[in-house]
Amino acid sequence: MSQRPIEMIFAGPKRHWVGNGFHVSNYFPRGARLFERFSPFILLDYNMPYDFAPATSPRGIGAHPHRGFETVTFAFEGAVEHHDNQGNHGIIYPGDVQWMTAGSGILHKEYHEKKFSSQGGTFHMIQLWVNLPAKDKMTTPGYQALEASDMGLFELPEDSGKVHVVAGNFKDVKGPANTFSPINIYRVEMKEGAELTLDEPATFNTGLLVIEGDFEINGQTVKEHDFVLFENVPGEISLRALSEKTQCMVFSGEDLKEPIAAGGPFVMNTREELQQANEDFHMGKFGSLDF
Ligand code: MN
Repeated sequence: MSQRPIEMIFAGPKRHWVGNGFHVSNYFPRGARLFERFSPFILLDYNMPYDFAPATSPRGIGAHPHRGFETVTFAFEGAVEHHDNQGNHGIIYPGDVQWMTAGSGILHKEYHEKKFSSQGGTFHMIQLWVNLPAKDKMTTPGYQALEASDMGLFELPEDSGKVHVVAGNFKDVKGPANTFSPINIYRVEMKEGAELTLDEPATFNTGLLVIEGDFEINGQTVKEHDFVLFENVPGEISLRALSEKTQCMVFSGEDLKEPIAAGGPFVMNTREELQQANEDFHMGKFGSLDF
């Protein structure tokens, strides 16, 4: 089978702070204008490994609203704590994923977990925003706590690597996440020299973020923290690990092909819906900020 061509490879832009706890590089949409191009994925903030000193009160971001999409948080090092006004509370550790459906409206707080915060250490995570189809934007808010042991597991021959399936399928191994549109998300770990082939539908927008080490992807060298976007052309994606220890995230999903109207913490389809979201929030319709 032919190879699926690489459309572009890019590094993340200069990092910025989200609250005082998340030091992130915004790979898209800001970094490479992948807003509509990478639907249903609309934002990727990558907190590369960053060393935090011990703190007396946990760093993070206080109560804020979302509507119209899902926030998906992946922890690699450190621990992230979440509270929302629907009564959900969770802590994620390395390998865990927190999948929050904002739907019609939610208020949440995102912080470093207390013990991690008091001890300090390396913090390493991703927040991905997944758009909701127009028909589901006002769905009831939801929360999925996905632990590392819940993920689908595909093992490479001779203990040379693992594919942890978060959402969708990889070679008949299913991931635990419930999604509103067809999505495949995998966390891949490979040892030096290991090889893996991905076969994503050409109708899916497919990209890959290198978390650790270097890879050869379809014959091209891709460095740690690079993002690779593939053309929507049928073909295989061939990965080969070039470093002793490697890790990458694969994001692949069917294009929603709907207009996007985004402003701050809301992602809707029209300017009117965006204005309505702002009004509803300021009218207190999302609930009290005190929870
Ligand atoms: Mn948030």
